[in-house]
Amino acid sequence: MLNQNPITYQKSEHRLPVAEISPATKKIISKLVENGFEAYLVGGAIRDLLLGLHPKDFDIATDATPEDIKHIFKGKCRIIGRRFRLAHVYMGNSIYEVATFRGSDPGDRVMKKGQIIRDNVFGTVDQDAIRRDFTCNALYFDLQEETILDFAAGVHDLKKGELKLIGNPNQRFIEDPVRMLRAVRFHAKLGLALSAELRQQIINNRLHLTNVPTARLFDETVKMFHCGNMEIAYKELMELRLFEILFPVAAKIIPQQQQWHNLLLEAFSNTDHRLQNGLSVTPVFLTACVLWLEFIPLYHEVLNSGKNSHDALHEATTQVMINQREFLMIPKAIQNGVRQMWMLQIRFKKMFGKGVYSTLHHPRFRAAYDFLLLRNTIDEKLDQQSDFWTSIQNMSPEGIKSLIFGKKNKRQKINQEL
Ligand code: ATP
Ligand code: MG
Repeated sequence: MLNQNPITYQKSEHRLPVAEISPATKKIISKLVENGFEAYLVGGAIRDLLLGLHPKDFDIATDATPEDIKHIFKGKCRIIGRRFRLAHVYMGNSIYEVATFRGSDPGDRVMKKGQIIRDNVFGTVDQDAIRRDFTCNALYFDLQEETILDFAAGVHDLKKGELKLIGNPNQRFIEDPVRMLRAVRFHAKLGLALSAELRQQIINNRLHLTNVPTARLFDETVKMFHCGNMEIAYKELMELRLFEILFPVAAKIIPQQQQWHNLLLEAFSNTDHRLQNGLSVTPVFLTACVLWLEFIPLYHEVLNSGKNSHDALHEATTQVMINQREFLMIPKAIQNGVRQMWMLQIRFKKMFGKGVYSTLHHPRFRAAYDFLLLRNTIDEKLDQQSDFWTSIQNMSPEGIKSLIFGKKNKRQKINQEL
């Protein structure tokens, strides 16, 4: 499948919109070339541009070593990564990844049970191409000539709408199991088909994902959450049995509760819409949605043991995070956000007195309120809470005051079950 001599698409043969490549990318590549190095725009950006999408970043590949790059860009460059050492070049407000071509010689590449632990063996552009994951990611754009170098027939696969792995899937998935998650993400994001064979190979190799550091798995999960088509990605993760590796407890509970499965689809599609409309998103929201069903029974268990809701919230959240830690390492800041979103679900039950103000002005109110509305779509017991927290947002300060301190409201201290 791999071509040492790439198929070269001349300027007249491809429709890559060169004007969409960021000026900083062009500047970095020109500077490397001026200094006598080979340098290309590579990977996802070319793939996305050929598909008519706007790339989220522009990655550069070169035969300059990280030290060479640092020397050329002086104070604007940092070398990062241990597993995969590369240079970050700072231009304006953006960071550009400049990676040195990886070689095919095993050299001092560090492997553990077939998995690549570290890959800092440098090589040539054609060797670099074979190390990449999918054929459509092994495309190199030569800015001077405006040609596309295609080492693995990626343009052909893109035209056919297929996502194809380079090399032997069993070996490539063991080398780096994250490629299975990337396959799902690119399928969802780009609409590229995964063959039945590849799907089976993912299912067969899925357990290798448990060998990946859990912090990296969380990063990949967030990229998945925010790929713009998480509704599709979720269905695929379920079918390919990858969701159970990321969220094992939730994966057991959700299929038993069709309504909750539908709620999650709704949550994912809301996030997809927000991204399509350029609205902000946070991994807190979907993490809180996915793990809620794990939290609720634990919360009630602690409450039933006689503790107050504050302690129950704390203990149940901590327990969920401990259960989850073995599979996905959720950073502390995200854990705190999730805890706040869950706390607000409990505080939403209190629709009287001073506490209403602190709920309404809580920094997580918006996300928590969106979650309440989602929960309400499958639970009509939440109608009253949803109506209350919806209408209060449009009320005058006087209106709110009379509503939450009014006699009628005081009498009907609502104490609904979550
Ligand atoms: P996006 O930026 O939209 O997530 P991308 O394909 O650019 O997609 P990056 O993570 O930015 O993904 O990686 C840049 C390129 O590096 C990829 O296009 C691919 O060629 C290569 N690459 C990234 N991760 C891997 C991997 N795990 N195995 C092999 N090659 C990889
Ligand atoms: Mg990229």
